[in-house]
Amino acid sequence: MKSCIDCQVCCHYLTIPVGKFDKDYIEFYKNFGLDMLEDDRVYLFVVPCSCQYITKEGCSIYENRPKVCRQQQPDMTDVICSYKEKWDGKF
Ligand code: SF4
Ligand code: SF4
Repeated sequence: MKSCIDCQVCCHYLTIPVGKFDKDYIEFYKNFGLDMLEDDRVYLFVVPCSCQYITKEGCSIYENRPKVCRQQQPDMTDVICSYKEKWDGKF
């Protein structure tokens, strides 16, 4: 199984979910030239934006990282977890 420690995509990108029928928002975010991922329910616009706590060795506040970081689980079926394979070396 994929490891978050080997990946760190979530520490280098923010994703903005947009409903598939929210045409105005879709056009708005497309105008920024952001990569767009897709799952069953939403489009996810990917914003390159590294967390201030990420280092080459990993999270520098690992023991005290926010709850949202603790809840991240690697899942190869998840479109966000697939992003590293698609765009490896981009950041
Ligand atoms: S949840 Fe997925 S995308 Fe995020 S760091 Fe873990 S493996 Fe990477
Ligand atoms: S706090 Fe740590 S785990 Fe959370 S996004 Fe920042 S570097 Fe990644």
